[in-house]
Amino acid sequence: MLKQTHLFAGTVLVEGFLLYNNLDLENVVHPRVFAENAPAIGAAMIGSIFPDIDIKISGLSHRTLTHWPLLYGFGILAAKWSSDKIVMMFCLGCLMHIFLDAFTKRGVPVFHPFGKKYGVKLVRVGGISEMFFCLVIFIAALGLWQFWH
Ligand SMILES: [Zn+2]
Repeated sequence: MLKQTHLFAGTVLVEGFLLYNNLDLENVVHPRVFAENAPAIGAAMIGSIFPDIDIKISGLSHRTLTHWPLLYGFGILAAKWSSDKIVMMFCLGCLMHIFLDAFTKRGVPVFHPFGKKYGVKLVRVGGISEMFFCLVIFIAALGLWQFWH
């Protein structure tokens, strides 16, 4: 998926974070509330694009270690154990990224970071199918918001 698609999905994750914490746009802009939650929101957005850092690292193939969901699963367990909201949201953002990449032809590694890649193979990166996928995410986000309120 393209970076903008991952960032768009990251905003949906942030929406879920706000809803889960009973925050809406009116009270999240309050300076104290914003200061408490901005690091976790930022971590979710960074996490939503972090796995593609492998493109910038020479010697590391694309969609290997940084796209291995188990890595972030361990991160979530550690975050849950230590009640660390920032690490939790970062790891959830990374898992969201991997989930979206799993819809592309290339797939993502599941059992081993350098092993076989699995995917649904519905979306061509940068194609019309990715735009349609964004529309589905948008409708899901609207539905989440309506359902919660
Ligand atoms: Zn990726």
